[in-house]
Amino acid sequence: AEVRGVSSVQGVGVPPGTVRLLYNENPLGPSPLALKAASEVLSGCNRYPMATVFALLERICALHGLGLASPAGTADLGALFEAFEASPVLLGAGSSEILQAVALAWGLDGGEFVEASPGYGAVGAAAQEMLGARVRRVAVPLTPEYRHDTQAMAKAVTPKTRVVVVTNPNNPTGTALNLAEITRLADRLDPKMLLVVDEAYIDFTEAPGVMSALGLAASRSNVLVTRTFSKIHGLAGLRLGYAVASAPVRERLRPYLLGMLGINTAVVAAAAASLADADYLIRSRQVALAARGQLLARLPEFGLKPVPSDAPFVWAKVKGDCGPLVQKLARADVQIAGGQRWQLPGYVRISTGLPAEMDMLFATLAAKV
Ligand code: PLP
Repeated sequence: AEVRGVSSVQGVGVPPGTVRLLYNENPLGPSPLALKAASEVLSGCNRYPMATVFALLERICALHGLGLASPAGTADLGALFEAFEASPVLLGAGSSEILQAVALAWGLDGGEFVEASPGYGAVGAAAQEMLGARVRRVAVPLTPEYRHDTQAMAKAVTPKTRVVVVTNPNNPTGTALNLAEITRLADRLDPKMLLVVDEAYIDFTEAPGVMSALGLAASRSNVLVTRTFSKIHGLAGLRLGYAVASAPVRERLRPYLLGMLGINTAVVAAAAASLADADYLIRSRQVALAARGQLLARLPEFGLKPVPSDAPFVWAKVKGDCGPLVQKLARADVQIAGGQRWQLPGYVRISTGLPAEMDMLFATLAAKV
């Protein structure tokens, strides 16, 4: 497809000419190798994909240096399910499925969910939607630098707290915690409480000390780290995410996850091909980092105050309400996040796009009307 003369991948449901900097998607499109692999397996989609799902699980475990016992034989479905269930990695239809399962598994008997605000809030929102007044969301304001206030979060914990969520880097602010800060927060929590570290955007970080908490998830009984194929791999529309946690945490979650039957043939092929496409992954990151650098450098020209970001998007303070700015851009088919649905009226969140999309954004910001 074309974005005003510039080649781009628009994707499903995005009208031609639209510059969508709205949902923190990967503007490159998927890896061509992922696309090819997914297309090639589609004709076999009359079959359930259990054996290939297991092979992908093996790759993900190997990627993180996690051991996974082989099934007695892939032809024996019982053995395959057993090996799948013993895996240190849980799979989900996007990390969303896993975050929602956390809400149920830890919230069914009531309790409190501690999250940062503004933050992604998926666990608390799901808990409230499914369990209503039985649960309480505790929103802990970010620091003045728009970072998680881990001290305040630790202080907000009560005996009723079930889950504490850290989104690293945070959405919508793009700020990241370093591993030492997350470790200290984990140290302060009662082992009965779960610390969720949502690492949807961890592949885009640059700040020193910012690292994945996967090691914590592998070594502690009460830390769950989630990852997704939606962002750096550009597979948001195919739905695949995963989580690493201790055996007791995984057992508590399993009843609320579809497991092997929730994962589809196309995404298995695409994810495996994407993991092997190092060039694509480097490019994916480069595109985001280049656009982020431009946003941070140039938004002040237009009266916006961007917050230093480690994510594939930038959060910026506007003068007054963000409504007129969001609408001005929308009239030119440049979509950004801002307004009621996006938490704070005086801010916008702009996802990173291709160079031509960034040009369109800046040209529209510069336009008089
Ligand atoms: N976590 C964060 C912080 C996100 O921003 C998103 C999506 O934008 C998700 C999780 C969910 O991603 P998915 O379900 O596609 O893995």
